[in-house]
Amino acid sequence: MTVTPAPSSTTNPLPLLLLGQGADPESERGVECPGDLPAASDPDLVDRARRAREALGDRAFLLGHHYQRDEVIQFADVTGDSFKLARDAAARPDAEYIVFCGVHFMAESADMLTADHQRVILPDLAAGCSMADMARILQVEDAWARLTDAGVAASTVPITYMNSSADIKAFCGRNGGAVCTSSNAQRALEWAFEQGEKVLFFPDQHLGRNTAVLKMGMSLDDCVVVDPHKPDFGVTDEDLRRARILLWRGHCSVHGRFTADSVAEVRDRIPGVNVLVHPECTHDVVTRADYIGSTEYIIKTIADAPSGTAWAVGTELNLVKRLADRHPDKNVVFLDRNVCFCSTMNRIDLPHLVWALENLVEGRVVNQIEVDADTTHWARVALDRMLAMPS
Ligand code: SF4
Repeated sequence: MTVTPAPSSTTNPLPLLLLGQGADPESERGVECPGDLPAASDPDLVDRARRAREALGDRAFLLGHHYQRDEVIQFADVTGDSFKLARDAAARPDAEYIVFCGVHFMAESADMLTADHQRVILPDLAAGCSMADMARILQVEDAWARLTDAGVAASTVPITYMNSSADIKAFCGRNGGAVCTSSNAQRALEWAFEQGEKVLFFPDQHLGRNTAVLKMGMSLDDCVVVDPHKPDFGVTDEDLRRARILLWRGHCSVHGRFTADSVAEVRDRIPGVNVLVHPECTHDVVTRADYIGSTEYIIKTIADAPSGTAWAVGTELNLVKRLADRHPDKNVVFLDRNVCFCSTMNRIDLPHLVWALENLVEGRVVNQIEVDADTTHWARVALDRMLAMPS
């Protein structure tokens, strides 16, 4: 991989890097962006991107995550969620360059699923994911040792959400576990309970809890939170023996911001509104929502909704704005009164895209994301287990 994790830090908060500058060696994201970026005020940026894109032709394939800015998404050959995009990249073996407009863990997944000759480019290496950063490999290995000491590791199956670094996916591969997406989390948990008695689920505690309680009929008492910031991970041996789901204390900084008050406020403001949220939202929010589902589910639900209906959507703002623009016959609003983009997704902007594409045109491969062979092998074991799960 491009980044070697530093020793686990349980106390230092992640610094917020300036756009495209600086480095955080403890983060799953990469290091600083080299080179001179075009100015954001350059009026020629769209034309420069278009010219570079045309010059690259079929040698490049541009992937755009749903949460990307419009100025970037207009150049995407395909759009989708992280797993769909990685598979789309794998289906284009003729493309020499996979330009991934998303965040670091997604580019890692694309690198692991594409052929060796294909190069995956992340236009801004500082585009990480705060949720993925909340589970670092040395922390997870320490937690596994804690489970071993408590006598429960042998009966525990680790499941990681797609939104995690490649080394966390590889940890799951090595330890009998698998990867899941927000669409198949229930299936992954059911599979895991066929393999063992407990599940260690990371990095998103909310997806794990919402799936276990709302989809599988478990109780909140069946869950404990494993907190890497607390001594002994904040759990007693008895907690670990009793619980069925061990939830890593991580969350999405975008979906985690919606509250029960956001739901109450929008219901007051827009009578008859349908509240549609992503399962990365807190349990408090999803239990008050009308519909819960992945990004692809959200897109389809709004597309299929009758004209004249009203929707308050609890997911990333770029996507909600795009849905509102695409469906002017429906009232589509952001669930919270305050706007909230994913700050790391937003690091990929037009200047970074132009810079990356123009360098490729000149034959310079910049910001390549590479995962080493051993990590790729074990992460693919975890990914393949997910793909082999019965639907
Ligand atoms: S929206 Fe949340 S999970 Fe997605 S990249 Fe941003 S912080 Fe990570």
